Amino acid sequence: MVAYFKNIFLTTQGLLKGLRVTLRHLFMPAITVQYPHEKLTLSDRFRGALAFHPEICISCEMCVRACPSLCISLEAKRNEETKKKDLAWYKIDFGKCNYCRLCEEVCPTKPKSVHHTKEYELTFTHRNDFVMDWRTNVPQPQGSEVGQIWTKFMARGQKLSLDPKTNGSSTPSDPVAF
Ligand code: SF4
Ligand code: SF4
Repeated sequence: MVAYFKNIFLTTQGLLKGLRVTLRHLFMPAITVQYPHEKLTLSDRFRGALAFHPEICISCEMCVRACPSLCISLEAKRNEETKKKDLAWYKIDFGKCNYCRLCEEVCPTKPKSVHHTKEYELTFTHRNDFVMDWRTNVPQPQGSEVGQIWTKFMARGQKLSLDPKTNGSSTPSDPVAF
């Protein structure tokens, strides 16, 4: 009999403890973010979709070798006049990317030719679309930060215009001044 009432007491006590937490939160200001109309501020080191800047890239392939997921590939040809390598194409398979930032860290250019953006809403409707192919005839996803960088790049006729203020920054949000 004692055990029976003790059991009822402990159960009621546990229930009231839970309700106390519920009641406390009931009168607190709501913290729900009305996404997509409201968005949280991302941290400085947030790793979103990668952006690539073909006009800065020196085709050194360090990002290709550093990528643990083997999702970067490129082709470059040696230019006998300039004695440098000209980039023919550059691909990132976003279906394989694990957003580790290794490619950005090893990239030797200033600002970085490949870097993470704050873009986290990049969507694809077909598996093949995951492969982003930086060639002049391939449009990038519109409405995304990656796509906007590409669109501005194309609108400039691929002319180089580096902003000295962003040179040397490890994670420029938009290293090319448009
Ligand atoms: S973020 Fe990591 S996995 Fe993605 S392309 Fe760069 S090195 Fe590869
Ligand atoms: S590491 Fe940077 S400069 Fe070298 S190929 Fe990759 S993106 Fe281009």
